[in-house]
Amino acid sequence: MCIFIKIILKLKDTLKHKGLRQKLVQILIKKGVTSKIVLDAIGAIPRHLFMDSSFLDHAYQDKAFPIAADQTISQPYTVAFQTELMQVAKGDKVLEIGTGSGYQTAVLCELGTKVFSIERQHELFKITSKFLPKLNYRPKKLIFGDGYKGLPEEAPFKAIIVTAGAPFVPKPLLAQLEVGGRLVIPVGDKVQIMTLFVRTGPKQFEKTEFGEFKFVPLLEDKN
Ligand code: SAH
Repeated sequence: MCIFIKIILKLKDTLKHKGLRQKLVQILIKKGVTSKIVLDAIGAIPRHLFMDSSFLDHAYQDKAFPIAADQTISQPYTVAFQTELMQVAKGDKVLEIGTGSGYQTAVLCELGTKVFSIERQHELFKITSKFLPKLNYRPKKLIFGDGYKGLPEEAPFKAIIVTAGAPFVPKPLLAQLEVGGRLVIPVGDKVQIMTLFVRTGPKQFEKTEFGEFKFVPLLEDKN
């Protein structure tokens, strides 16, 4: 089969997939997700294309799954929960730590935000950088680097989302929020508490804790 046809088949999004996505959206509504723009984004994105082919049949279950480099694509409920907490609107500048499969990045693109996303695994950075434009998702910039440092040259951000479990809250991320900006970060070692920081003033932050979640660890730089 010629490569062109193979690529088309690989990127296929059928009516069956669309139907399964709508069922997933209903599950998320039952679990308490209310934001219409977030639900619409999840209803629009072909999650099965972000996953290893051996998991295709499970793509629309509300579960996390393995991706390359021993990492995971987050559970849709987790993606929806974190995205709701970000409270972003079209045109907002946002930073994601942990690009991974690019699924969360795609959700933020669907919302019309200007997305910067950092990934420390070179293999994933390469795969996802090539893959997202094929689905017409165009984040402002994907960066291969260490998310603990944030992205000072592009700060301040309206929202920052961390999609790996952080043993502590990296100070640079708080410093890179604009006033009124929101950091959504799962904090903890074995399990994480979803935590929201809102910058209420130049030196003031308001912290709110939500339930327990389970993420792969936010790793410190190898170098
Ligand atoms: N948002 C992703 C979640 C991937 S899992 C998705 O939906 O697919 C978390 C990701 O964080 C992994 O890809 C992991 O390699 C990355 N990560 C871990 N520590 C990091 C760090 N210090 N800086 C940037 N990315 C990191």
